[in-house]
Amino acid sequence: MRFQGKTILVTGAAGGIGRNITTAFEAEGARIAVTDLDTKGIEAEVAFDGDLTDRVFCDALPQMVKDKMGSLDIVINNAGITRDNLVLRMKQSEWEDVIQANLTAAFKLSQACVKAMIRRRWGRIINISSIVGRIGNAGQANYAASKAGVTGMTKALAAEVASRNITVNCVAPGFIVTPMTDVLEDSQKEALLSAIPVGRLGEPEDVAACVSFLASTEAAYITGQTVHVNGGMAMI
Ligand code: NAP
Repeated sequence: MRFQGKTILVTGAAGGIGRNITTAFEAEGARIAVTDLDTKGIEAEVAFDGDLTDRVFCDALPQMVKDKMGSLDIVINNAGITRDNLVLRMKQSEWEDVIQANLTAAFKLSQACVKAMIRRRWGRIINISSIVGRIGNAGQANYAASKAGVTGMTKALAAEVASRNITVNCVAPGFIVTPMTDVLEDSQKEALLSAIPVGRLGEPEDVAACVSFLASTEAAYITGQTVHVNGGMAMI
């Protein structure tokens, strides 16, 4: 019960990875707040439907959680989208939508929650980036840029708040079985498998286990880092 007495907010909680993160923290005693475009069917003490690219919603969210639950100790910036296309064909809107949802929203929410964490002298922010932010991927210039941006933002914020017992880290999944990767063709999945030494795609639980470790008190000396959860696909 490592998270007894702690309150956590998980974004994108209706998705494959978000649901598992929520379950993992609940199992260890955390009080759970979730947000997603549609939170129907998610088990949580409080749930907020909303679009994180709406800056007013993003700014207001930490206070909404505190009003309902008394505090906000751990924030997981997990919501994310893909709008894949080759650079030659990529529309401005495909670029902007991905940067807004994956990078700007994570920045805005981190900015909105960090002040209260500084006051309380404790906090954990964990951003879900991606292997693609480190090694790139054809057809994902927007997504790769957004996820690489998240790792840079993580390091800068980590340096700013480290002295207040707040850690800020990234978890970078490889290819995980979720609705986001269900769209891949079987031939694409087979090609991927041959590049993963562990010999399987990742499960959301693999990511959730890493997130909960980074949120724990045992990880107090780890900040500004990116932990790769990719079955050895890239040994970085
Ligand atoms: P997922 O199943 O598609 O879940 C993402 C969730 O975020 C969805 O419920 C989605 O809602 C929500 N969301 C998207 N835009 C939002 C917005 N503007 N405001 C609020 N909620 C929003 O994807 P996942 O695989 O669990 O991915 C979770 C995170 O892991 C993402 O950041 C993703 O980039 C990252 N990741 C995933 C993989 C993978 O292999 N699956 C690999 C590396 C990194 P809707 O479904 O309604 O759009």
